[in-house]
Amino acid sequence: MPRIAIIGAGIAGATLANRLTYSGVTVDLFEKSRGTGGRLASTRVGQLSADLGAPYLDGCSSEFERFLNSFVEKGVVETWRTTRSDFDLNQQESIDYKIGAGRNSLFTRELLKGATLHTETRIGVVWSDKQGVLIRDDQGYLIDYFDAVVVAAPAPQAVPLLETSPRFAHRADQAATSANWIALFQFDKRPSRLDGVSVIEGEHPEFYRIIVESDKPGREGVLIRVEMRESWSQSHIDDEREPLLQMIEAMLADWLGESLKPSTSKIHRWLYSRTLQSAQLTQPLWDAELSIGACGDWINEPGLEGAWKSANELADVIIDSFGAGGNLS
Ligand SMILES: Cc1cc2nc3c(=O)[nH]c(=O)nc-3n(C[C@H](O)[C@H](O)[C@H](O)COP(=O)(O)OP(=O)(O)OC[C@H]3O[C@@H](n4cnc5c(N)ncnc54)[C@H](O)[C@@H]3O)c2cc1C
Repeated sequence: MPRIAIIGAGIAGATLANRLTYSGVTVDLFEKSRGTGGRLASTRVGQLSADLGAPYLDGCSSEFERFLNSFVEKGVVETWRTTRSDFDLNQQESIDYKIGAGRNSLFTRELLKGATLHTETRIGVVWSDKQGVLIRDDQGYLIDYFDAVVVAAPAPQAVPLLETSPRFAHRADQAATSANWIALFQFDKRPSRLDGVSVIEGEHPEFYRIIVESDKPGREGVLIRVEMRESWSQSHIDDEREPLLQMIEAMLADWLGESLKPSTSKIHRWLYSRTLQSAQLTQPLWDAELSIGACGDWINEPGLEGAWKSANELADVIIDSFGAGGNLS
């Protein structure tokens, strides 16, 4: 059976790994971070779990819905029935979100079950030659040769990894991404302005979204996630973390109308949080001659569902290219 390396354990890499291992392919997945999920990662604040990337598994197609529902049956994904509002708290509505049970990163962990996962391994080089496709880590150490390699990293990080295929590198270079600051605050008591509401989004000059993370099923305590607007994040992109965290805390207190002191807090900068402009490729990025491919939210449709779709479309092509005896043709 062919052996394929995937670089990146976000939803695209994990979905592709799931499809390929299900088809009998041996998959090694390399991820530079300690955990899985990529921009669907989760973290801990004190003793509490929080989703640090996309807060829920949202999409709009019935295919994506069906895919998520198959994990609801396994207890890996669950429905969060909650209340969403605008920042004036005038327009409140009941809404259902799909989330990873416990935390979102567990969903990608489940998808990766059949693959061999190598975390804390940053890939520096992918090169196709007569022996196959080699990968080296960022120190130049040769990891191995594979029958094929798929790059499932965000566009700016995919560009250097796709050097062996200048055409693909150029495509990745065409995608545009945005940055985001996220702050998480643990409080001893719930701010009264958030009584009865868990998700706040809409018009606001600085905040993009405020979510009471601890209202998600199975979570504990009072943990509030503040996602800053892209324009605000960009204007503070190189700021020191601690003063920025204090600034966001003051802005939150101002909006809440009470200055509660958080018992723990955390700040994270996503340099490539969302794809603003994809490479607009309607065909999967797969070079059968070089045995190199790429997938992710920058290929055609941005967002979680776009990343998932691009992985599925690439999986179809790779699975189709198995010749007799399991060779890639
Ligand atoms: C704060 C935030 C909120 C969001 N909200 C939403 C939302 O509401 N709805 C929505 O649809 N989308 C949302 N998104 C976007 C969504 O999360 C992404 O579009 C999607 O998760 C991208 O998945 P991916 O698999 O393509 O990439 P990623 O999740 O980025 O996965 C790529 C992985 O590759 C790894 N990697 C990169 N370079 C290397 C290397 N050299 N070696 C090894 N590993 C490497 C990275 O560490 C990462 O884990 C949000 C994103 C953020 C950050």
